[in-house]
Amino acid sequence: MSALLTVDKLAVEFPTRRGVLKALDDVSFHISKGEILGVVGESGAGKSLTGAAIIGLLEPPGRVSSGAIYLHDERIDNLPEKQLRNIRGRRIGAIFQDPLTSLNPLYTVGRQLVETIQTHLPLSKHDAQERAISLLESTGIPAARERINHYPHQFSGGMRQRVVIALALAADPELIVADEPTTALDVSIQAQIIDLLKELCKSKGTAVMLITHDMGVIAETADRVAVMYAGRIIEIGPVRDIIREPSHPYTRGLMRSIPTLDSGTERLEQIPGSMPRLNAIPTGCAFHPRCSAAMPVCTQKRPELQQHEQGQVACWLHHAPVEEPVA
Ligand code: SF4
Repeated sequence: MSALLTVDKLAVEFPTRRGVLKALDDVSFHISKGEILGVVGESGAGKSLTGAAIIGLLEPPGRVSSGAIYLHDERIDNLPEKQLRNIRGRRIGAIFQDPLTSLNPLYTVGRQLVETIQTHLPLSKHDAQERAISLLESTGIPAARERINHYPHQFSGGMRQRVVIALALAADPELIVADEPTTALDVSIQAQIIDLLKELCKSKGTAVMLITHDMGVIAETADRVAVMYAGRIIEIGPVRDIIREPSHPYTRGLMRSIPTLDSGTERLEQIPGSMPRLNAIPTGCAFHPRCSAAMPVCTQKRPELQQHEQGQVACWLHHAPVEEPVA
């Protein structure tokens, strides 16, 4: 069976006055039907950019410079905007960090839901209204029949994000791209929203690409995880394997920064240093200036993603560099 979503050697560039900056480089992965793929990394790793490329919302002057994105067997990264808009909403839903990005403050949530439903599904206004109410109910909004007539500002942050989830699911998409869906919310309700997203998508068979900087959220939610660093995937595999035994030194660092019940947050370890800027990506392995296991080869040769155990990892600790033939 072909994958639901295939990202194949995707590169995204930003032309600037001082030259072209490569923000994503050789990013490949797939998502199967009903699967939750977590995409994790620090700010600037390229997670959101990957999500934006998939939903066709790259901010200009950013552009896909090579590679391709397929939904089933259909290539979607080069479609005209009208066709792309049809896919976005109908087949791929999106949830962003700030619910207010997705909601129009001037319209009631009911109007926004009904319009989205009627744009994508052949339903009468009455049926679309009933569907909107049932979507709101399924996301745990109390008194949905009355609240459908309320405006976004009349909802709390958590309730607004529930409305956005209802909106993303309005046309029964096959995939939801959720970019930091709980980061802007109160800590006490973050877990509720993640649980809701997970339960709703599992029950409908909707796949999710869950983008977050929080390895703890991935551990609770995802089936597989892709770890990004400096515009590339550096490790990908089943979440339980990567949590039990991360292979890449960067992933190990991320794992040590997850709070557990018996480790006070003051004992959490941070990875020293910071993500390189796009115009200063180190040669060889981009992580080498921060890596305590770095070897001479790491500063010279870039490790590619290669099969390792059940997943793939890009690190010379796991793959001996191939000797260059002597000329
Ligand atoms: Fe560290 Fe080298 Fe592996 Fe990069 S390739 S993560 S520098 S050991």
